[in-house]
Amino acid sequence: SPSRSSVIVIGAGVSGISAAKVLAEKGIEDLLILEASDRIGGRIRKENFGGVSVELGAGWIAGVGGKESNPVWDLAAKSSLRTCFSDYSNARYNIYDRSGKIFPSGIAADSYKRAVESAIQQLRIQEANPCSRDLYKVSEPPSAPKTPIELAIDFILHDFEMAEVEPISTYVDFGEREFLVADERGYEHLLYKMAEDFLFTSGGKILDSRLKLNKVVRELQHSRNGVTVITEDGSVYDADYVVLSVSIGVLQSDLISFNPSLPRWKTEAIQQCDVMVYTKIFLKFPYKFWPCGPGKEFFIYAHERRGYYTFWQHMENAYPGSNILVVTLTNGESKRVEAQPDGETLKEAMEVLRNMFGPDIPDATDILVPRWYNNRFQRGSYSNYPIITNDQDFHDIKTPVGRIFFTGEHTSERFSGYVHGGYLAGIGTGKALLEEMEKDKERKSESQTFL
Ligand code: FAD
Repeated sequence: SPSRSSVIVIGAGVSGISAAKVLAEKGIEDLLILEASDRIGGRIRKENFGGVSVELGAGWIAGVGGKESNPVWDLAAKSSLRTCFSDYSNARYNIYDRSGKIFPSGIAADSYKRAVESAIQQLRIQEANPCSRDLYKVSEPPSAPKTPIELAIDFILHDFEMAEVEPISTYVDFGEREFLVADERGYEHLLYKMAEDFLFTSGGKILDSRLKLNKVVRELQHSRNGVTVITEDGSVYDADYVVLSVSIGVLQSDLISFNPSLPRWKTEAIQQCDVMVYTKIFLKFPYKFWPCGPGKEFFIYAHERRGYYTFWQHMENAYPGSNILVVTLTNGESKRVEAQPDGETLKEAMEVLRNMFGPDIPDATDILVPRWYNNRFQRGSYSNYPIITNDQDFHDIKTPVGRIFFTGEHTSERFSGYVHGGYLAGIGTGKALLEEMEKDKERKSESQTFL
């Protein structure tokens, strides 16, 4: 049919855009990008809050200053994205208890050291039993955290980063520094810059008809000859190939049906991957009441419930005078808070802050609670492969099914969960598809010579 495209890219997050760019630059002009929401960017998303631009999704460029340069850091440099160095390492010296006392640094350092040792020990046990995937869930860790400070440190270690426990490829390859994006144009500006290279833009807007927003893909009919894509509004698009860049959470949901169904090796691998929910709650205040200055950007609240408003950051380094605090929740706490009215969350957060800083601090004047889990185009924040990954599952998640190619951060072998993971995955998938198209062309011309 005349409306048939060579390739349809589903999703306009960083991986979809980078895959489309690779294809366009290699001469695949008749591509189409279908995006469910009303914007590009996906999990890279800024919003104006309290007079500044805050990042609801990815906030940091992680992995900077090492032997290789992080490609996202290079993109940021090229568009002079404003960033700000973040040093988490001091957070452990700013641990508050419920009465507002800061734990002495010796005690904090000791607890931290013990938590790291325990995590390493746990990892060795897992390594020795590589087959039992759920070992961590069934067996009690060697010295399970129990006191509020132990629980707080356990949360920081496990729900943030395990870099001190096991080398993480991002830091090994690209360096250990992290930079917070603090730019009014947002982290997503990098995506617009990429899009500009291959889509028609004018006045800072993408006006190319090959990018279609508000197109929620609901069904993929696929065969040896091509793929038919059907969207929620009843549009039908035909293509030779599809690049599917939706998140692992969306793949686990029933948003998109496949006809015929995906093979079992595929669906089983998809279901095996854990999805992390990570929520940054922003609070605006009339004035500052928290300590600022060197080593004070991050602080921790130790509560008897693990992950209860544990990890705090002030935004004075990024935006001086903004009077904004950010608290990060994960998984169960994220889901709980997503399900309740924001006013309730504000009350909880204020109670925690009054425990830390006293009864006289002012109420927040505004709150922003992103809902990544309940967003049907996301269903979580990022993929969370266990440190000891089953390589087969990973391989299966990434492998194409006929003419459907899979991309996204969850298909990045070394950098899953990160922006650079999504970016590099998109490039990799784009290249793999180009190779396949080349082979297909050869096969066709061979069969023609035989005819
Ligand atoms: P996405 O950005 O999810 O793109 C997929 C696109 O598909 C979306 O635009 C979605 O709307 C669209 N879509 C979904 N379903 C359909 C459908 N049915 N039809 C059409 N389109 C559909 N990474 C870092 O490097 N540093 C960080 O500090 C960091 N922090 C994070 C904090 C949070 C709260 C979150 C959520 C993520 C964070 N990440 C961070 C991870 C990073 O944001 C992601 O790894 C990356 O943006 C994923 O890009 P992607 O292209 O794979 O997926």
